[in-house]
Amino acid sequence: MNRAESDKKSVIAIDGPAAAGKSTVAAKVAGMLGATYINTGNMYRAITLAATTRGTPLESPSEKDVEDILRNTSLEYTSSGGSDKILLNGEDVTRKIRAPEVAASVSRIAAIPAVRKWLVDRQRDIASRARLAVMEGRDIGTVVFPDAKWKFFLTASPEVRARRRLEQSGETIEGSTVASVAREIAERDRMDMSRKVSPLTKAADAILVDSSEMTIDQVLDRIVGAVKGDIVPNDLLKKQSRTL
Ligand code: C5P
Repeated sequence: MNRAESDKKSVIAIDGPAAAGKSTVAAKVAGMLGATYINTGNMYRAITLAATTRGTPLESPSEKDVEDILRNTSLEYTSSGGSDKILLNGEDVTRKIRAPEVAASVSRIAAIPAVRKWLVDRQRDIASRARLAVMEGRDIGTVVFPDAKWKFFLTASPEVRARRRLEQSGETIEGSTVASVAREIAERDRMDMSRKVSPLTKAADAILVDSSEMTIDQVLDRIVGAVKGDIVPNDLLKKQSRTL
């Protein structure tokens, strides 16, 4: 391995559009590799919840609104064994951030540069304390860790993503619901891809995994296989062989 390779961060970046199965896959990959699982979407959701709670106008928050939110927000992120917990000003909001109202507004909050900077600093800090981190989001391989050792871009067709989202929440799958969920997902993707700062895009050196026709085990094989097949620093290899 050359110097540049070994200098790369021990981060497995998993980016991709909404409802592509990133959380399920990232948590399992982390479990299989004994790595720390970090869900950055949950952090953007928590800030969105903070803004909603403070009554910030989400359509057009002013710079001052945003500064106020960040100044008055404490965010504590912990993760263990493939699941994470997020404390917002001391309150466990892990469940609350899954609310549809949060999902509907999060892309607007995530487009604000000050919010991104605030969170990216924290994300880098959390990952730097991990021996190996599996970090999922939209801009991990492009902005947060452009020098991540492994990068994946996980996607699936909008129809498949909508169906999986409905299955996950235990809802009945009807043509009309699939279509409406697919529309919501597409709208979030449109906003995430078209924002000026850190838009959702595949890093040039990321491996594309289209899971439309794949089972979860096939996706895991593809990702873990790529990571294990790679040349990794010796100490990492030794530790991984104990957990794999
Ligand atoms: O991953 P999840 O769908 O929970 O993310 C919620 C939202 O947070 C995304 O739609 C996006 O607007 C934002 N996000 C982001 N950058 C990340 C992770 C999430 O902008 N790294």
